[in-house]
Amino acid sequence: LVEIHNVHKSYGGVEVLSGIDLTVRPGEVIALLGPSGSGKSTLLRTINHLESVDRGSVTVDGELIGYELRGEKLHELHEREILRRRTQVGIVFQNFNLFPHLTALENVTEAPIALKRLTKDDARELALGLLDRVGLADKADAYPRQLSGGQQQRVAIARALALKPKVLLFDEPTSALDPELVGEVLDVIRDLAQLGTTLIIVTHEIGFAREVADRVVFLDGGVIVEQGPPAEVLTAPQHPRTQEFLAKVL
Ligand code: ATP
Ligand code: MG
Repeated sequence: LVEIHNVHKSYGGVEVLSGIDLTVRPGEVIALLGPSGSGKSTLLRTINHLESVDRGSVTVDGELIGYELRGEKLHELHEREILRRRTQVGIVFQNFNLFPHLTALENVTEAPIALKRLTKDDARELALGLLDRVGLADKADAYPRQLSGGQQQRVAIARALALKPKVLLFDEPTSALDPELVGEVLDVIRDLAQLGTTLIIVTHEIGFAREVADRVVFLDGGVIVEQGPPAEVLTAPQHPRTQEFLAKVL
C-alpha cells in the first residue's frame, strides 16, 4: 500500500534520510522507533507530502506522493490532484494541532466540507459517528481549550479519520500527554489497528509497540538499521544501535 523507495532528504547539506526503502502492506501496523534526530518525523512527513524528497519516491496505493523535484512528474500534477492524493494519508501530531476557534465537531467536519466531499449534514453525521468511536460523543460542542490533552488528541484522530485515509500516520501521539491520559489515546489507536487500519506509528511506548505492531522498524542516522516482528527486534535486537537504544528506553 505504501511504497517508499530509496528516499533521500537533506536540510542545508546535511542528509537526514539516506536511502529509505520500506513497503507497508494494507492493514499492517508499523512501529517506527529510533533516537531523537534519526529522521522519524521527516520520514513520516514525506509520506504525507509535507516534505518533498530529494531522491527516490513514495507511492500510496500506486499513486505518487513523494518524488524528485528535479523530475518532470511534479509539474505535470495539478495542485488539486496533489491535494487529493495527500488526503489519502492522515497524520496525527504530538501536539494535536486542533483549530482552537472550532468545536470538536467542527474540527472534524472542516476538511470534508472544505474539500466539498460532503454536505454539512452528511459531514455532521460522519463526525458524530467518529467522535462516538473515539469516546467523545458527549463533547461534540466543546472547544479544544475545554478538553483534556487526551480528549484533544482523540478529536485529532477523529479529524484524521474523517477523510477516510488509506493510511494513518502518528508522530509520537502520546508524548505531550500527562501519563494518566496516555492510555485513552493508545486504546483508540489499538482499536484502529484491530479494525485493520494501516498505521505507521512513531512512538516511544515500547510496550505498546510490542503489543500492536506487526513490524518494528528501527531508524538511526537516516537509515533503517533493523526491522522485523516485535518479538524479534524488541526482545533480541541484532544490531548494536538497536540494542543501545532499547537499553536506554526500556
Ligand atoms: P525526534 O525523536 O526528536 O522527534 P526525529 O527522529 O523525528 O527526532 P527529525 O525531526 O526527522 O528526527 O529530524 C532529523 C534531523 O533533521 C534532525 O537533525 C533535525 O534537526 C533535522 N531537521 C528536521 N526538520 C528540519 C528542517 N525543517 N530544517 C532543518 N533541519 C531539520
Ligand atoms: Mg520527531
